Amino acid sequence: MAMRVGLLFGGCSGEHDVSIHSAQAVAQALSTAANAKKYQVVPVHIQKDGGWQVGESAQRILASGVALSETADDLAQDDSRDSSTGSLAPTAAALNRLPTREVADIDIWFPVLHGPNGEDGTVQGLLKLMQVPFVGSGVLGSAMGMDKLAMKSAFAQAGLPQVEYRGVLRSQVYANPNDFSQLCDQLEADLGYPCFVKPANLGSSVGITKAADRKALEAALESAASYDRRIIVEAGVVAREIECAVLGNDRPQASTLGEIRFSSDFYDYDTKYTAGEAELLIPAPLPTAVTAQIQAMAIQAFQAVDAAGLSRVDFFYVESTGTVLINEINTMPGFTATSMYPMLWKASGLEFGGLVDQLIQLGLARTAP
Ligand code: ATP
Ligand code: MG
Ligand code: MG
Ligand code: MG
Repeated sequence: MAMRVGLLFGGCSGEHDVSIHSAQAVAQALSTAANAKKYQVVPVHIQKDGGWQVGESAQRILASGVALSETADDLAQDDSRDSSTGSLAPTAAALNRLPTREVADIDIWFPVLHGPNGEDGTVQGLLKLMQVPFVGSGVLGSAMGMDKLAMKSAFAQAGLPQVEYRGVLRSQVYANPNDFSQLCDQLEADLGYPCFVKPANLGSSVGITKAADRKALEAALESAASYDRRIIVEAGVVAREIECAVLGNDRPQASTLGEIRFSSDFYDYDTKYTAGEAELLIPAPLPTAVTAQIQAMAIQAFQAVDAAGLSRVDFFYVESTGTVLINEINTMPGFTATSMYPMLWKASGLEFGGLVDQLIQLGLARTAP
């Protein structure tokens, strides 16, 4: 009998719509001839307000999808964000709406969720409590991989080189003007310009600003504070952007590398999701030794945050000095057919259908005695 795979998608985050696109690709990969014999997809949609939908309504959203937001500004205007936490939190009422009967006989969950309340350990905690296996990282790996400040301290501990950065709390941004001004003085002195201001817990570049001067820094901090209690400010680097896919549990493997090239100022939301804006080069044209170094660093990063199943690790390669810096890890990277993660495995000899099959097997293996 086919195994029932609970495809959990949507989610309470700024990356809700991206998740729908990823889930569509995973559902399609599970319906290939080889996979359809083994797996039956049970779509479960988490609405932006935290409510769960199963059956026909979930099926309909999965089938028709949703257009990705035109601009990151649309996301910024999303008034469903919770102003107290900056991210969308499922309410207790939403949890009461958990469709218990429909999900009772799921054999394994595949949470194709990006961003807070999905990629950050919250859903993973729920699934763990339900004692059903699931694809991807557990509570710790997901939480460490989502929070850029926690992630970076784990990377530092592992000896991985990265840009200078500082952590800022929302309360410091909303403090009295004198204190806020002092904070900006300090950030300026420590990191210089341009610097990157980011909500600590997000993805798809949502809420990220490249600040070139004091005025932009102040505005960027206010913008990031509208998304998250925790904010990271990083020194900007001029570098090529390289990504590596990692697959496995305790003995993870690194893929062929990919490079992203674009003409926009940085790899922002629009560049990521507007067709034709970014060019993916696979394999990344790099010296062999640099490729090997990045692959080794990707595995170290995966282990530093205790990731499992899959991750995409993003790097900066400063060509002039030959330096490699780690940027971040994504424990549930974009998963559409044209996303970097599946494309890197395809280039490494593993097709989308086989990849999804392996991820499910890795999820099952984690709960085996
Ligand atoms: P993802 O969609 O990969 O999860 P994210 O929202 O977690 O992205 P980052 O990968 O941290 O965001 O940053 C997004 C982009 O911003 C990078 O790909 C790069 O183009 C630019 N960027 C971020 N930090 C820096 C930096 N310190 N110096 C130069 N460019 C940067
Ligand atoms: Mg990220
Ligand atoms: Mg991400
Ligand atoms: Mg990134």
